[in-house]
Amino acid sequence: MSTAPNRMHRPDNELVDLVFGYMRERLQYDPVPLDHPGDGEQLRAHLAGLLNEHGNNPADVLKLYDHELSRAVISADSPRYLSFIPCAPTKAALLFDMVVSCASLQGISWLEAAGAIAAENQVLRLIADRAGLPETAGGTFVSGGSAGNLSALVVARDTARRKLGVGPEARLRIAVADQVHSSVKNTFNIIGVEAFKVPTVDRRFTGEALRAALAADPNPETVIAVVGTAGTTNEGIIDDLQGLSEVTRERGLWFHVDGAYGGAGLFAPSIRERYNGIEHADSFVVDPHKWLFAPFDCAALLYREPRLAKAVHTQDAGYLDVLHHEGDEWNPTDYAYHLTRRARGLPLWFSLAVHGTQAYTDAIEEGLTLARDTAQLIRETEHLELLHDPQLSAVCFRRTGWTEQQYYDWSHQLLADQIGFVTPTGWDGETVARFAFLHPGTTMEMVREILDTMA
Ligand SMILES: *Cc1c(COP(=O)(O)O)cnc(C)c1O
Repeated sequence: MSTAPNRMHRPDNELVDLVFGYMRERLQYDPVPLDHPGDGEQLRAHLAGLLNEHGNNPADVLKLYDHELSRAVISADSPRYLSFIPCAPTKAALLFDMVVSCASLQGISWLEAAGAIAAENQVLRLIADRAGLPETAGGTFVSGGSAGNLSALVVARDTARRKLGVGPEARLRIAVADQVHSSVKNTFNIIGVEAFKVPTVDRRFTGEALRAALAADPNPETVIAVVGTAGTTNEGIIDDLQGLSEVTRERGLWFHVDGAYGGAGLFAPSIRERYNGIEHADSFVVDPHKWLFAPFDCAALLYREPRLAKAVHTQDAGYLDVLHHEGDEWNPTDYAYHLTRRARGLPLWFSLAVHGTQAYTDAIEEGLTLARDTAQLIRETEHLELLHDPQLSAVCFRRTGWTEQQYYDWSHQLLADQIGFVTPTGWDGETVARFAFLHPGTTMEMVREILDTMA
């Protein structure tokens, strides 16, 4: 073997065949097996000595990955993965994700990647249209809802500071309800903003409750923004976006909508009206890696007035000046907290272009139907209690009489038997069970099989 410095950058036919062969096999798993949790000691033993000076036979390394490592990863794209928020990328999106890697698509700037950015922006436009955002809306794809929420709320904070003529010392607050995602709470810590907590009504954040809370507060002028959730992660509840948007417009507050999970419902006619009011959002996040069938990691971040984001996020460095001398072309780097970025919107673009939007609508409606049918089955089952009518595709329910430990033991056993990955969740301090549907391969038969284990 040559030791020339460029050896590791040359295509090596054996390596190409090996990895493509593995990918072909992984793509064709039907169904994808759930697989298992990992044992740290065993995994470390398998990995011991691997990263040595001379490297290893590629077939051996791949075999180690296939047989030992990948089996200790619970497959989020298994139709029996019903915890947290699953992932079910289309094969078109998955395959194109490999193209994005293969072509080293750098998505920073128009100067470097106009072709890729034009396609990504086509998808952002499609999402903006579904939300009813104006022609001027735009943004970028980031790694996830957390990165999207952070990037958007920094813009909300700095826009408010400018408007109020205050500096970093001023106390600023952002209105949220209990059910707001943990990433928003983290964002507040990072950006030095306090939460203005508003109690929910029937677990929803409503405009009326917000108006009342602001009226009762001695310093309402310190509240600069409102975060509405379009689909809470645990329960799939969509806040009163219409009511919230009225208050934000009355008071000139920034309106951010976190639709990381539920934003995909904009594509589902049966529930579209629940999103009314979203057209007034100043910023909006939806994760295609959740319910728009893209692979990890992909979140769409949109701003009503992108120039406000650009004023906050544009990085200023001599070597970057050239990016900003190209007229008004779109530089995705200017719209979030990032510089280098994968053109991670392209897999979704390719899949949408191949399958058409109706296929997305149908697949999302299927997830909604599965949740409704499951809710009905739970209602009809003696020892089970439905905790809420599902608004989206999450269903929380109780097994009458079970202790917390029983839920955990049951969940463990279900995974050990490869019947399902269904983790317990919290409901007003109580431990309960929860399904999150979105995989088109999940069937009522699987749901019945899982529920039968609770008898
Ligand atoms: C998943 C989720 C997030 C976080 O998104 P990541 O992609 O995991 O960073 C934020 N908000 C809501 C409502 C979510 O469901």
